[in-house]
Parts: sequence; C-alpha cells; structure tokens
Amino acid sequence: MKVKVIPVLEDNYMYLVIEEHTREAVAVDVAVPKRLLEIVGREGVSLTTVLTTHHHWDHARGNAELARLRPGLAVLGADERICALTRRLVHGEELQFGAIHVRCLLTPGHTSGHMSYFLWEEDCPDPPAVFSGDALSVGGCGLRLESTAQQMYQSLVETLGTLPPETKVFCGHEHTLGNLEFAQKVEPGNDHVRAKLSWAKKRDEDDMPTVPSTLGEELLYNPFLRVAEEPVCKFTGKAAPAEVLEALCRERASFERAAEPLQPQARALLALQWGLSTPQQK
Ligand SMILES: [Zn+2]
Repeated sequence: MKVKVIPVLEDNYMYLVIEEHTREAVAVDVAVPKRLLEIVGREGVSLTTVLTTHHHWDHARGNAELARLRPGLAVLGADERICALTRRLVHGEELQFGAIHVRCLLTPGHTSGHMSYFLWEEDCPDPPAVFSGDALSVGGCGLRLESTAQQMYQSLVETLGTLPPETKVFCGHEHTLGNLEFAQKVEPGNDHVRAKLSWAKKRDEDDMPTVPSTLGEELLYNPFLRVAEEPVCKFTGKAAPAEVLEALCRERASFERAAEPLQPQARALLALQWGLSTPQQK
C-alpha cells in the first residue's frame, strides 16, 4: 500500500492510497479534484472510490466534480450531508480493495457523522494506517462542534486510541505546530512534547508535512489522548476523563484565538506587497 500525501487549500491534506498489485486507488477527502486526477494520471492507477471523513467543504467540496469527471465512482462516508455521497457507511463496516482492508470507525466529536478509516494490507509487513480527518490530528484534534464530550472521549480514547501503536496517523490538516504549542502549555514538563515540537518547527522551516505520525507517538504527546494522565488532569482541574476533555477543548479553542489572529492580516499584507512590487520589477 502506497499513500500519496497531497497538500491542498490552506493547510488541508488530501490522500491517494494505491494498491500496488492491482493498481487500484482510493482517495481520501477530495478537496481539489483536478489536482487529484493529475496524480492519478501520473501514477497510472485506476481510481474507484472516495472515502470522505466528514461533510465540511474543505474535505468534501471536490466530490461532485470528481463524480462528474469519473462516472461510476463510489463516494462513501457516514454523513448524509457529504456531497455526491453514493452510499452511507456504518460503524464497523469493512471494505476491501485488492489486498487492502478498510475498517470504518465512527468517530463523532468534530462532527456527528465523522468517519475515520483504518487500513491494513494482507500478507504485508507494512504498518496499518488510519485516516483520521479532523477527529485526531498530529498533536491535537479538531474542534468539538457537534457531539458531547463523552462521545468525543469515546472516539479519541476508546476507538482511535486503542488501534495498534504502530498505526500511521494521516490527519486532515497541517495544524501540528499550533497543536504542539498548546500541548506544551498543558504539559510543560513532557519531553516528548518538547522533542516533537522542535522537530515540527524544523519541518515547517523546510516546508515539509508532519504527517504521518504513529498512534504510539500520539499517546506520548497528544493531550487529547492523555486525559487520564495526571499533568493533563491537573491543567484542567478536572478528574473525569470526559470533563478533562471538555476543558481541554475549551482551552484549545481560546488558545487558537489568542495565538493566531495576526496570521490573516500578515498574509493580506504579503499579498499586497507582491501586488505593489510586481509593476516595479517589470
Ligand atoms: Zn472539519
């Protein structure tokens, strides 16, 4: 199984999973169909299926156009709000593409119909992979928008957190730096957070993705998977895991607002400078 990591839009990831014997391909979260089809063409594979993690536009906006360009394409997901959906999946359902098996894991929290996809290959020493969308990110998770803290706890800790530790985590966004800065605020004494943060800064400078991580790594530094750990409980002042998680989500949301309001302005300024400087260069 080969996974192509395709950065799209501002900080999203779209993925193409290739079954190397049959050359069948499955796409995850198609936001930019033309970009995907370029890679499908270059790899010489046959795209049969789209797996969508959730209905948000930056994960599903390309489904309709892709389905129009590729008649017969299966567009799968767990939420009826996903555009161009051809079949609704249920929790625990298994799919197969050649030697690749997919287990569909309902992981509500960010949205109520969020599905994560756990993939493994028969007779293959490669580790399995999970496509976790906005349910689990490197060092964090998506905002809790549509589910209770208890449901989100089950998704993160019980459903995703119990996958094999060697599982590669391919998430929906490059939010690693902000996530780990927050993780450091939660657990300033955690060496795994510090080490991963300095690695992520280097990746950022080199403009390289931080996906995939592994679930085993996430368990060491991701506070949202560590709600039973003493320093995380202490940070939130709570003890019950779902309450710890709820408090963490609240803190993370305000941390985001405090840390990142300057970015859009900075980008606008940069765009303006480009616009102004171009005529002078001619
Ligand atoms: Zn989303």
